[in-house]
Amino acid sequence: MPLRSMDRTHQSPSGTAVRESYRPPVVNAFTVDVEDYYMVSAFADSVRFEEWSRYESRVEKNTRRLFEMLDRHGVKGTFFILGWVAERCPGLVRDIGSAGHEVACHGYRHRLIYTMTPEQFREDVHRAKGILEECAGTAVAGYRAASYSIVKETLWALDILIEEGFRYDSSIFPIHHDRYGIPGGERFAHRIERAGGALVEIPPSTITLFGQNVPVAGGGYLRLFPLGITRAAIKSINRREGKPVVVYLHPWEIDPHQPRIRCGLKSRVRHYLNLKSTAAKVESLLREFPFGPMSSLLEGAR
Ligand SMILES: [Zn+2]
Repeated sequence: MPLRSMDRTHQSPSGTAVRESYRPPVVNAFTVDVEDYYMVSAFADSVRFEEWSRYESRVEKNTRRLFEMLDRHGVKGTFFILGWVAERCPGLVRDIGSAGHEVACHGYRHRLIYTMTPEQFREDVHRAKGILEECAGTAVAGYRAASYSIVKETLWALDILIEEGFRYDSSIFPIHHDRYGIPGGERFAHRIERAGGALVEIPPSTITLFGQNVPVAGGGYLRLFPLGITRAAIKSINRREGKPVVVYLHPWEIDPHQPRIRCGLKSRVRHYLNLKSTAAKVESLLREFPFGPMSSLLEGAR
């Protein structure tokens, strides 16, 4: 779908031709990071990777709930799926792809990139991409790192993504945060040229307030802000800036009954905040704004 403005001509009442600017509605991206409640980085100190299979799995049920939500609104989205989840729920990956959604990659075991060597990262992402492509039967073009962990020190990861055949990445959050972010980074989809090739970077959405980029419309920020603020932010980005928004969430964010993990206060607040109201917020956004998969944003990238 074209995302740029077009000119069109019509006749004025006096019979002279008038050109006016016509801007088609901006299509936003709806994205889901498919992982279970116990895999998140905030719990990494409490739940070791080796223990994952001991926990009750709720990821398939919650992802299918999101599916139904998108279906009700006729929306196709992008699902960044963890390789470990795909191995255990191959039918889920197949159904995501056959329903017309985009299957994308969230790595194999949710390791932060800055805790890996380039060789470990390549192995992780290569393994996950292979599993996902086998389950979905299609090529995987998009990648999103665990906890947006492509930061200034790990930009080498982009070279590996290019070599592994990815067309776009969505891992660079242009904000200050204790675990991720490149403050002052580009806010919208843009092409990144590297020595070995290029890819498109599609950051999660922010608005600019007092010179600072503030995250909106995704994950904990979507749960934290009242719906009115999120709606106003999306409208501002779509109408004033003429750009699409990237909404992201996790299946566990619509599951208020998930088992509780023992953790510190900060992680507890971040993970369990407003779980009850998130599904209704997402429904409202799907009703109000046009959404599509990430691939629909590639065309608009500079
Ligand atoms: Zn994740």
